[in-house]
Amino acid sequence: MLQDKDRIFTNLYGFHSPDLDAARQRGAWDETKFLIDQGREWIVDEMKKSGLRGRGGAGFPTGLKWSFMPKQNDGRPHYLVVNADESEPGTCKDREIMRHDPHLLIEGCLLASFAMGANACYIYLRGEYIAERIALQRAVDEAYEAKLIGKNNLHGWDFDLYVHHGAGAYICGEETALLESLEGKKGMPRLKPPFPANVGLYGCPTTVNNVESIAVAGTILRRGASWFSGLGRPNNVGTKLFCVSGHVNKPCNVEEEMGITFRELIDTHCGGIRGGWDNLLAVIPGGSSVPMVPAEQIADAHMDFDTLRGLQSGLGTAAVIVMDKSTDIVRAITRISYFYKHESCGQCTPCREGTGWMWRVLTRMSEGRAQKREIDMLLEVTKQVEGHTICALGDAAAWPIQGLIRHFRHEIEKRIDDYAANPHSDPVRVAA
Ligand code: SF4
Repeated sequence: MLQDKDRIFTNLYGFHSPDLDAARQRGAWDETKFLIDQGREWIVDEMKKSGLRGRGGAGFPTGLKWSFMPKQNDGRPHYLVVNADESEPGTCKDREIMRHDPHLLIEGCLLASFAMGANACYIYLRGEYIAERIALQRAVDEAYEAKLIGKNNLHGWDFDLYVHHGAGAYICGEETALLESLEGKKGMPRLKPPFPANVGLYGCPTTVNNVESIAVAGTILRRGASWFSGLGRPNNVGTKLFCVSGHVNKPCNVEEEMGITFRELIDTHCGGIRGGWDNLLAVIPGGSSVPMVPAEQIADAHMDFDTLRGLQSGLGTAAVIVMDKSTDIVRAITRISYFYKHESCGQCTPCREGTGWMWRVLTRMSEGRAQKREIDMLLEVTKQVEGHTICALGDAAAWPIQGLIRHFRHEIEKRIDDYAANPHSDPVRVAA
């Protein structure tokens, strides 16, 4: 369990001021010049050694990603883009950083940009994040005013930071759709390769990182890679913001040690499962894109990338959605399925057609108006969508359904049997 001395986000709940003076007292902007003076390679190496894995969902090593940026100057500007389009259902951690600890993010932007040779950074904000934009812009203005960033700043690296407000499309959280949107085009994912490190924003080398990944960088560099890598479990190190929602007694955001067990996380910070542990049905441990894990498998599991992958799920954004036995699990996944149908950008056929098809079949199943052989047909369709699309939204639409069939096929079958036995009953209607 994380000790207070190891906490990075000491103002997560906004008990203190987000302003520059208060942020400095909490440690932000401390020795930033010294860190920059250590040089680009040192920063990238420290980030690699820290073992930080991207906090946006994929878990790709952050330092390694930074090292992909071209070392030679070919005349094109380099960019850092911070993905603050936090739209994954259940996820609400980056907004707390931007509201309450924005200077950690801004300092991280400067350090990361310097390490990658970028003189400009864009923070792409989720369209609905109005309060966050105001808080972040205020902090950016403060940083300019204090000459922490901008031209001829105190740190000796010219650096401009722009807050760009999105228009509210989930798909713009996909890094290449985000870049398209930032360029003023419709937010549709690009085919990869080329990867953004070579051809990103305006065709220039670009790294896209999640808010949390960047906001922890300053503290990691100040305290040392070995401090960060000493927390957590092998290959799954450091601290992590968890967003716990659903059927717990006290839903919350909390920073914890990576790899804490689900039971410890819930009992320590969330007041336990509503109705007690025997009442737990299943958990979606990483935002709606990852498959659910049933109660008996998740209860004592470590909340980290590798353990959850071993359970055929994932840590994702660490948005932990807890469902107790009052949950209509078929209906819950049907609703998630509708979300992906709604958010598909429509440019590739398996996703455009498949998400609608899967949602319609699931809707009938949740009402019992289906045949049992359709369950395998639905599973087959999820496999035709998975891995056959331009971006990961197709996978995200397929995986929750695969999880449902894997663990709760009996629930679908029961519903079909009940309806067959009494076809004039009023089916459970699933609202879109
Ligand atoms: Fe668009 Fe879906 Fe294809 Fe992604 S998978 S590019 S969201 S149609």
